[in-house]
Amino acid sequence: MRRSLRSAASFLPSKLTLPTLRNAAASCTGCDLYKTATQTVFGEGPARATLLLIGEQPGDQEDVAGHPFVGPAGRVLDKALEEAGIARSDVYVTNAVKHFKWEPQGTRRKHKKPSAAEVAACRPWLEAEIQVLEPRAILCLGVTAAQSVFGKSVRVNELRGRPLPAPLGKTVFVTTHPSAILRGPDPAQREEDYRHFVGDLRLIAEYLQQRR
Ligand code: SF4
Repeated sequence: MRRSLRSAASFLPSKLTLPTLRNAAASCTGCDLYKTATQTVFGEGPARATLLLIGEQPGDQEDVAGHPFVGPAGRVLDKALEEAGIARSDVYVTNAVKHFKWEPQGTRRKHKKPSAAEVAACRPWLEAEIQVLEPRAILCLGVTAAQSVFGKSVRVNELRGRPLPAPLGKTVFVTTHPSAILRGPDPAQREEDYRHFVGDLRLIAEYLQQRR
């Protein structure tokens, strides 16, 4: 007998607004990740945001705080957005997967990459956020976000640096995840990767400026 695929789809509220979505996502059990995470970390930002920014999943600090991008990667992101001239008030931030996936490493909870099945299970939340927000552009931070948006495996370095046709009806940009910058092997590499990241964000700022 075929097993039915689990997903968040059956948890979506009948009326789609950011508050109803956030409320419904709080009790999602569409995959197993809710079992070991502290809470659902839903997207945040103004309903009139022009740019939707998608990360992979909440990190250890986000899981505890209940807010996306408040940990070390969030601080890199905030700094880079400011340097690129993108106001955080124009940005809605979310993740492809709304629960923190981790494995124990000593006393720490070590980040674990979500599987393709978990990304697909959580995709209805992301699609609903896009439907409600109607952003002018979407920025995928890293391979998992891009995998969710494009619905298949992609390579970030082949896609970054240009606007892409819109699989979910929006123009999409792809860049690295700020946590990948933090994992760089030495300060010089981290600085180079950070500059490349800011360059990608500047491109999006220009794109949004031209379409005001
Ligand atoms: S990761 Fe997504 S699909 Fe899985 S339980 Fe959490 S909100 Fe639901």
